[in-house]
Formats: sequence, structure tokens, C-alpha cells
Amino acid sequence: MMRKPVIVGNWKMYKTKEEAASFIKELIPHVQQASSRILLAVPFTAIQTAADAASETAIAIGAQNMNDATKGAFTGEIAASMLLDVGAQFVILGHSERRQLFFEDSAFINKKVKRALKEKLQPIVCVGETLQERQEGKTEERLEQQLLKSLKGVKAKDFDTLIVAYEPVWAIGTGESATPAIAEKAHSFCRAKIKEHFGDEAAEKLTLLYGGSVKPENAAALMEEANIDGLLVGGASLSVEAFKNIVNYKTLVG
Ligand code: PEP
Repeated sequence: MMRKPVIVGNWKMYKTKEEAASFIKELIPHVQQASSRILLAVPFTAIQTAADAASETAIAIGAQNMNDATKGAFTGEIAASMLLDVGAQFVILGHSERRQLFFEDSAFINKKVKRALKEKLQPIVCVGETLQERQEGKTEERLEQQLLKSLKGVKAKDFDTLIVAYEPVWAIGTGESATPAIAEKAHSFCRAKIKEHFGDEAAEKLTLLYGGSVKPENAAALMEEANIDGLLVGGASLSVEAFKNIVNYKTLVG
């Protein structure tokens, strides 16, 4: 099965509404011919502006987090319906910065995944091992645990929309990307686990992204790998120049 490539930018806590609008305006002419889906996860405050700026283009706007509750006394939190209301089409869940800095565990992420699926907000679920786990030979154990707990109760048909991102924590924001071979090994392990627990069709359909210091220089080589269907890009998605070159990785080959 041919899975359409997906390139996601994660702006983290960067860019005002004005900066988001001007970034998108500048990006649009460079991505008209792109063969990938292009997603931008922007700060909550910029979602509406970004969605307006990207309307009728190939760029979809989403969020970087949400709560699993529909409403209630959850100071500082945001609901899926509120994200949809301002034009979000997807949400990143379980990013390692959420897991590490805000102590989110896979059980909580699982509740969010189910809520996002229920509300028809496309979830991008992140998993990945720390440097210590890799050095101790626990990468696969960690990935399996995070995958199974975060995706508990998900149905095979949910893999029509659900995306998984493998993001080794040691590669995020460090400038040290996983090599294509290291990333492919983890991706093929993740796909095998999805196959084992959710079936052949789910595994075939699953879009698996790699994230961790992706740059224009390494995007094409990573995308060559059989089980890498797309990229989740942090730092390099903040510059139009770098992000447009990543989105157009195919034209840069050779
Ligand atoms: C990320 O934010 O998910 C990420 C992979 O960041 P960076 O590309 O900067 O490593």
C-alpha cells in the first residue's frame, strides 16, 4: 500500500498570530506542488489565524496538546471541541516534552487519543526512548510499552486517521538526528507491534513519522526508508526556508 507522505511542523511555544500569518503566506507558494500532506502544529492562540491563512491550501493546522475532558473545571486546559471550533484538524499527543516536563503518562495520553478520535480530531501520538533507555538496550521495550498503553482500546479502523510519531528523546532539539538505519529499525518494530495487536490492515495503513533534529540535509535520506512515512519537525519548522526544503525533500534529492 502507498501511504501518502506527511510532513508536520511543530512550532512549540513560538510565534504570535502575526508571525504565524506571515509564515504561512510566505510558505504557500513553495508548497503548491508538494506531494506530501503538510501539517502545522501551532500555539493555541495562533490556530484561528493560521487556519484562516491556510484555508484553501494544502496546509492543515493543528494543536500541540489538549485535555481528554469535554468541559469542566480544568484551569488552563483546552478541549478537543474548542480546537475544532477555531479550525484545528489534528492534535499532537504525548510529545516527549509533555511527558517529561509536564509528567503526562501513557494512561493520560490514551484518554486524550480516544477523545480526539471520538471528536474527529486527527491524533498524532508520539513515542520514543531516552538516551539512557537506548544505552541500556531498552528501546524496544519502551516503545512497545508506550505504544500499547497510549493506544489501548483503539480500533483497527482508527488507523485510517491515527498517526504515530517515533521521536527518540535524545534526538529532539539536540541537532543529533537518528540515522536512517536506526530510525527504520524503530519504525519497523513499531509497525510490527501494531500488526501484532491491531491486525494487518491497521499496520499497513498506519502513517509512521520520524521526529528528532530533522533538517533539509537529512530529510530525503530518512524518507527513503520503507517504514518512514513522514517527518515531525520542530526547530527547522520555524524557518520558511528550512521547512519548505523539507516539504520539498523529493526535489532536493541528488
Ligand atoms: C519535535 O519538536 O517534535 C522535534 C522533533 O524537534 P526538533 O526537530 O527540533 O528536534
